[in-house]
Amino acid sequence: MTTPEDPWAAQRDASWYDRPDVRTDKVVHVGRPDSMSKCGRSFLNDYMTWDPQDVAEGLRCRSNGCRQAWPTTPAPAAG
Ligand SMILES: [Zn+2]
Repeated sequence: MTTPEDPWAAQRDASWYDRPDVRTDKVVHVGRPDSMSKCGRSFLNDYMTWDPQDVAEGLRCRSNGCRQAWPTTPAPAAG
């Protein structure tokens, strides 16, 4: 069992909506222990999660809260 402090990331749980927005659903948020996103706007699909550092830059939520929570990775170009 994972601890609540383990970092995780997931997409919004769009199943709540009659008409999910297929364009913005691609965004991945950083999760909190209560299954909300760090940005506080979305309830996340917590049965399909990523390790935050595996989420591609282009998919990361840029909203305040999530934005600061993404792990900083060394620039690949450094090698
Ligand atoms: Zn977010």
